Amino acid sequence: MNYVIAVSNEKGGVAKTTTTFSLSATLGEKDLRVLLIDLDPQGNLSLATGLEPKEVNKTSGDLLLDGLPAVDCIRKTNMKNVDIIPANNRMEVVEQSLPVRLNYALILREAIQKAHLDYDFILLDCPPALGAVTLNALSASNLLIIPTQAEYFSAYALRDMMALIRKVRREFNPQLAYRILITLLDQRNRTHRTIRQQLQQTFGVGLFDTVIEIDTRLRESPIVGMPITQYRPNSRGSQQYRMLAQELVQYVQQTNPQTA
Ligand code: ADP
Ligand code: MG
Repeated sequence: MNYVIAVSNEKGGVAKTTTTFSLSATLGEKDLRVLLIDLDPQGNLSLATGLEPKEVNKTSGDLLLDGLPAVDCIRKTNMKNVDIIPANNRMEVVEQSLPVRLNYALILREAIQKAHLDYDFILLDCPPALGAVTLNALSASNLLIIPTQAEYFSAYALRDMMALIRKVRREFNPQLAYRILITLLDQRNRTHRTIRQQLQQTFGVGLFDTVIEIDTRLRESPIVGMPITQYRPNSRGSQQYRMLAQELVQYVQQTNPQTA
């Protein structure tokens, strides 16, 4: 049984890809098997795992548009226990052409179910938009992780996310849960501290206890093609993404004992 997690926020630059990449590494370290699916036309996650988006030909776009079996698109990464289905700019065509199809919101879910994949976790790195691709990701997921900065406009953008969650629960996936993850946090910044408190009051248990603080090593790690846990195993970023993996695994055990 696969536990599927979408990492999404309509805002760019909130650490969706960094979180997907780093969390896959820390879950992999725990001997959990992870499949990454890159759903962003920019292919940043694919790049981080050492793949060149222009050179990959069996991608998430082919899976969604042409029904290519998921197993045919899977590539190994240099991370322990982590594989990937890469993306390239074909995802832009997907975003445009999916909505004319019947039941288009469920294409990804059906592709995953049909493939009988042997992973503990499937992590979906979403594009910075709440369009057809993100709708597919949320409809396919057990849990949505929403990385957000402790900035005013980021907190505001969560309203759109919440509206989309309600729509997905109503129409496609009544079980969809969510957790907000505060990223790029600067504890010395008064605004960050205030907005963190406000998010805690508003969302309560909907917020991960773990926060991810600013750590420039997290910026460097995808450039050298390594997850933070390989690049700087003892850095704050490594430790916090390990805590996130731990909190996530506990959450899954409590809420979905049969999958963990
Ligand atoms: P998104 O996928 O939401 O667009 P990214 O994961 O690409 O966001 O992150 C945006 C930028 O912020 C990238 O340059 C990334 O390296 C950097 N970044 C992400 N998380 C952190 C962090 N905790 N500390 C410092 N830089 C970070
Ligand atoms: Mg990204």
